[in-house]
Amino acid sequence: MSEYDIAIVGAGAAGLAAAIAAGEATSESRLRIAIIEGARTPGAKILVSGGGRCNVTNQVVSPEDFWGGPHPTIRRVLGAFDVPRTIEWFKKLGVRLKLEPDGKYFPVTNDAQTVLDALLGRVATLGIKLIPGTRVISVEPLTNHFKIGLSKGSPIHADRVIIATGGLALPKSGSDGAGISMLRSLGHTIVPTTPALAPLILGKSSDLGGRFSEFSGVSMDVRLRLRRNRQVTAELTGALLFTHFGVSGPVAMNLSRHWLRAKLEDERAALHVTMGSPTLSSSEAADQWLIEQSAKHPRQHLATILATLFPERFAKALATELGDVRTLAHLTREDRLRLAGMLSDLPLPVTGTRDYSHAEATAGGVDLHEIDPRTMQSRKIPGLYLCGEILDVDGRIGGFNFQWAWSSGHVAGWAAAERD
Ligand SMILES: Cc1cc2nc3c(=O)[nH]c(=O)nc-3n(C[C@H](O)[C@H](O)[C@H](O)COP(=O)(O)OP(=O)(O)OC[C@H]3O[C@@H](n4cnc5c(N)ncnc54)[C@H](O)[C@@H]3O)c2cc1C
Repeated sequence: MSEYDIAIVGAGAAGLAAAIAAGEATSESRLRIAIIEGARTPGAKILVSGGGRCNVTNQVVSPEDFWGGPHPTIRRVLGAFDVPRTIEWFKKLGVRLKLEPDGKYFPVTNDAQTVLDALLGRVATLGIKLIPGTRVISVEPLTNHFKIGLSKGSPIHADRVIIATGGLALPKSGSDGAGISMLRSLGHTIVPTTPALAPLILGKSSDLGGRFSEFSGVSMDVRLRLRRNRQVTAELTGALLFTHFGVSGPVAMNLSRHWLRAKLEDERAALHVTMGSPTLSSSEAADQWLIEQSAKHPRQHLATILATLFPERFAKALATELGDVRTLAHLTREDRLRLAGMLSDLPLPVTGTRDYSHAEATAGGVDLHEIDPRTMQSRKIPGLYLCGEILDVDGRIGGFNFQWAWSSGHVAGWAAAERD
């Protein structure tokens, strides 16, 4: 007979949500649940999340906020444990959340520790056994139960297993992809992994796009477009931050997975990233804007007008690109067209992205087609459930990745608790 009804591998956001959901699912008979966690102190990633404040979820979460596996599957999982239920759940755990103007929810304490303490506190009151500092090295399906090999001590046995070992982002937190390798050896298909939500690295040259490190520290709203063999394959708007190595900020980080996936699919594909004003979506629109500004403010200095779109330092650099043009009245048609191109589609010489140590998520993972979204149970191995970042689902910045962890964790926990 197994020592545990349910063993959960990984005490990150998804594993803790699954444990609590399973622990709360049965009121009459208490299930024997264990969480095995490789790190000595669990929850490292929760603590660093959202700049230490933990962006728990978002006001509006839909499948369109995610990339990877099929949207109908993601919709079903998110729908089973949605944002209002998440907020209510946290309230019951004693974590009050506040909504910020950009739609992100944070704990009112502005401290990620509040979230982790509440999750671990609930795990303890439910009598769930947390086994920290122990890595799972193998999961072996036997008749009606699983044998779980550990990095120390004897193997344990459990009737059902939930794997919540995360992806590869921030490996020092303990999420190093070991769970993905384990599932590959159990016969699951792994969609190739790349970092997601990572800053972009830019090359250097004498062009304006190659001198962006001069603007290190400057932040502005932009539209980024990724073209693959001239076709626009991703178009995103949001805040961009120039750094000494390239660009960061939500829009650059959201774009990183698209750049890496395109390179993964075709190493030789010609990829171009361009940056422009979020309000001027084409060079025609930018040209029209310049014509209007020239008619309204002929005596204005070009840099002053451009500073209505971009921060002053960047506006000055753009104006300087046109040589000795001083006022809008001096702008020739040729200057105007060149500037319109720069305002809407300035090349950003992306050479790559930072690695997993600087990424907030993983793109790719266990193929979502092999998971039943009603239960998060493996379609290949009955009694084995998966949740969180280990799956081929990655969200954009804004609390979406945690929402996926809470939702998929709940579905897995409920289902594992109810299985005969
Ligand atoms: C710097 C940073 C900031 C972020 N900020 C936000 C944010 O504000 N909002 C948001 O929505 N998302 C954020 N994210 C993303 C979010 O943290 C993750 O998507 C989420 O934590 C994934 O949860 P998970 O439980 O699936 O995996 P993880 O949190 O990675 O947890 C997996 C756990 O499994 C353990 N483990 C791994 N292998 C084994 C093994 N073999 N045996 C035992 N244990 C094992 C690991 O030690 C780890 O504790 C951020 C990520 C980073 C890196």
